[in-house]
Amino acid sequence: MKGVLSCWIMILLFSAAAGQSPQNQSRGEEWVRREEMIKTQLIARGITSARVLEAFQKVPRHRFVPDPYRRYAYADQPLPIGEGQTISQPYIVAYMTEILDIKPGEKVLEIGTGSGYQAAILSEMEALVYSVEINPVLSEMARKALAGTGYENLRLKTGDGYQGWPEHAPYDAVLVTCSPSAIPGPLKEQLAEGGRMIIPVGKQYTIQYLVLLEKKNGKIRQKNVLPVRFVPMVNEKGKNY
Ligand code: SAH
Repeated sequence: MKGVLSCWIMILLFSAAAGQSPQNQSRGEEWVRREEMIKTQLIARGITSARVLEAFQKVPRHRFVPDPYRRYAYADQPLPIGEGQTISQPYIVAYMTEILDIKPGEKVLEIGTGSGYQAAILSEMEALVYSVEINPVLSEMARKALAGTGYENLRLKTGDGYQGWPEHAPYDAVLVTCSPSAIPGPLKEQLAEGGRMIIPVGKQYTIQYLVLLEKKNGKIRQKNVLPVRFVPMVNEKGKNY
């Protein structure tokens, strides 16, 4: 009897905690799809951070994927979001989030808001999120998707993220979701002491690597961590960096 009671208490506590999530998700079909995605795509590939896994459980990824592709929202792949751009594969989003080891209250700069999904994950990690998107159509779509799912405490800007967002620097973490051919100087400068950056580097159609940078005693150390394929980072004339 005692066991049954404590089991119910656990369920009640967990439901209460889930209820605090901004989008106030009920445990419907999509919740179950996310459980499956977490098990088969994230845990199976070595994502272990409880905070990251919890964020993936809470953020309704399907609400960030436009209609014709919505039913594939929990598939193990990137998906088109319009304007020739993509939302990254769930595993890549989880990998980049986990490696930055984001703590509550840290300032995080994202370059390439795209659908807004990665920004929602960062917000669920209790980061102070600043996100820059160069394409005004996507910027507006992301703004709507984030507001519609209850993620309101983020700052979004339409502009060229190569320059970072100097007004709010320095950042504890920088996460870049489009690939330049070399790491932008302004992003390195805007990294706080002890700050980390994860960024895909390499020209379009060549092998790109996710590069992890860390700033310690004013010096930056970097290493390649994973081969990837991202859309290019472009300037306001559409030319690749
Ligand atoms: N993080 C996004 C992934 C979007 S794909 C998500 O969760 O959906 C990468 C995005 O980077 C595209 O939307 C593209 O328009 C944007 N981008 C490309 N060059 C950029 C630049 N110089 N500054 C800001 N955003 C840029």
